[in-house]
Amino acid sequence: AEVFKLREPFVDVMNKVVAGEHRNMNMVIGHQVLRRMLEQEAERRGAPVVAFGFNADDLVASMVTWFTTGYRMGGIPVRELGSLRYVFPLYRITKKELTLYLELVAPGLNRQGAPGRFTTGSDERSLAYAVADHLYDLWPGIDYYLFNAFENVQRTLLPLVDDLCRVCGGRYVLQEGVANPAGLCDVCGFLHRQEALRADAV
Ligand SMILES: [Zn+2]
Repeated sequence: AEVFKLREPFVDVMNKVVAGEHRNMNMVIGHQVLRRMLEQEAERRGAPVVAFGFNADDLVASMVTWFTTGYRMGGIPVRELGSLRYVFPLYRITKKELTLYLELVAPGLNRQGAPGRFTTGSDERSLAYAVADHLYDLWPGIDYYLFNAFENVQRTLLPLVDDLCRVCGGRYVLQEGVANPAGLCDVCGFLHRQEALRADAV
């Protein structure tokens, strides 16, 4: 609530979001909040690198979203944005492999509950995961080719242009041809339209 300058406690804002017509935003907001919390902690400790725990299937699902929207996406497994370096150390490991590995070496760490109401996303997101799972069924190991292909694509792209959100302080990638308000990330722009931000926030 403090970082995003919310009028109300975070849980109240999210309860309204998931109960309303914009409930598809809950994963986007959840991820942006987690990211900003990690970045704040990194800044507090003077750490220049943030490591995300995304698995191969998460990133393949991101690529499905990428090639069905055309939006720009930073590199995998390393992306530099602002003063931070983001790494994805688990990007070659699928959830299935991680689950099997933990089952054998540390079953105590393998407990995962049912998805909560904040962790199930929009239809589009579910579809991206469904397509990613289907790709794995059709072509086991397709992620090895996809990540290499994406690396090649990255080399031919123009440099990324980023901006700093004046509300949450997060860095985001500008999308060509999309009318983003200057200095406002998607999540804070959305929360602003929902009148969830404090009057002095924007
Ligand atoms: Zn923001």
